[in-house]
Amino acid sequence: MNKKPSIPPAPLNKGGGDRRGDQITRNKPYSWLEKSLESIHRAHWYRSVKTIAGRGGAVVNLEGREVVNFASNDYLGLAGDDRLVEAAIRATRDYGTGSTGSRLLSGHRQLHRDLEEAIADLKQTEDALVFSSGYLANLGAIAALVGQRDLILGDRYNHSSLKNGAVLSGATILEYEHCDRQDLEAKLQQYRSQYRRCLITTDSVFSMDGDLCPLPELLELANTYDAMLLIDEAHATGVLGTTGAGCVEHFHCTGKPLIQIGTLSKALGSLGGYVAGSKLLIDFLRNRASTWIYTTGLSPADTAAAIAAIHIIQQEPERRVRLWENVKIIKQNLIQKFTLFPSESPILCIGLESPQAAIDTAKKLQEKGIFAPAIRPPTVPTSRIRLSVMTTHEPEHINKLLQGLD
Ligand code: PMP
Repeated sequence: MNKKPSIPPAPLNKGGGDRRGDQITRNKPYSWLEKSLESIHRAHWYRSVKTIAGRGGAVVNLEGREVVNFASNDYLGLAGDDRLVEAAIRATRDYGTGSTGSRLLSGHRQLHRDLEEAIADLKQTEDALVFSSGYLANLGAIAALVGQRDLILGDRYNHSSLKNGAVLSGATILEYEHCDRQDLEAKLQQYRSQYRRCLITTDSVFSMDGDLCPLPELLELANTYDAMLLIDEAHATGVLGTTGAGCVEHFHCTGKPLIQIGTLSKALGSLGGYVAGSKLLIDFLRNRASTWIYTTGLSPADTAAAIAAIHIIQQEPERRVRLWENVKIIKQNLIQKFTLFPSESPILCIGLESPQAAIDTAKKLQEKGIFAPAIRPPTVPTSRIRLSVMTTHEPEHINKLLQGLD
């Protein structure tokens, strides 16, 4: 059982006199950084950034070389869409570059409200609240909803923002086995009655695997054990469901009592996050979510781009149809030759035996003009190549991937 880590008390200076000079020369307070980095290198866990030039898309210029992009969360190809770019430019001209304050003070614009109404319309919820990122939406919502007298039950493979939101809340945290309804029920049975409130948290599409949470079963358990259910729709919004509303729509659970979290930075091609749910929930979060209250409102450009993206998602379902056609073709081919993780999304992962094998494979693919990242521990328990499929991948891009993998 995970409890919030407690900070040990500061040691008392028992020696008397002034020992500061000694300590400064002897302790070198930052020397541990070098050692820590060395062990990260030794474990092949070291990471660094790669520079992409120009607009993102199905083909990008990566470190001076044109590559087909299977590393992007821009599932619908909207981040480079002229309509989003124009909306961002117009909003910047009209409102300036920054929101200049927190939403409750001077940072609120009509644009923010327009976006929240657009999200609520897409999700078919009573209301929505926009945060500066999906990560902050998870931290803020979880820490506002539960506290020290409460219990959080989270899927073992949940995203870092769900896990850190749980730690921030101060609640008792229990992890259940990945997508394991029985394990969750056993834990609810054993522990639920010992706590005031209970919150179940889960990704809807698991970001590093591509599989889906068993939402109808989770809803049933939440109902039986008097628990709230928070679902992170980061990789599902715009992608799953007939209208692109996400996993909730995919499972025909629209309108059920749920706390939906999401991001504006994946299929919506912008930046920011949101919570969608009942009017009461949103009103409560406006008054209690510290990562919303004490931070600057989303920039006008990001806000306007996200509104434009939602309109496109609603008006151009053919983008989603094309995306799923691409997923199907790639999956059918990969499944014959590789250990493919179970997936019901555009995230397809090829299992590899070690971090080094994953790094080598990603490097070889990049040499062949394919950008497909190696995902390794500590992000995930086992190493893999993670492909994300886009609407804008053309048959020639897909052929290049399949030939490259051969
Ligand atoms: N939840 C999940 C499942 C994610 O994959 C991510 C982004 N990797 C986030 C939340 C955070 O979203 P954002 O990038 O908007 O902070």
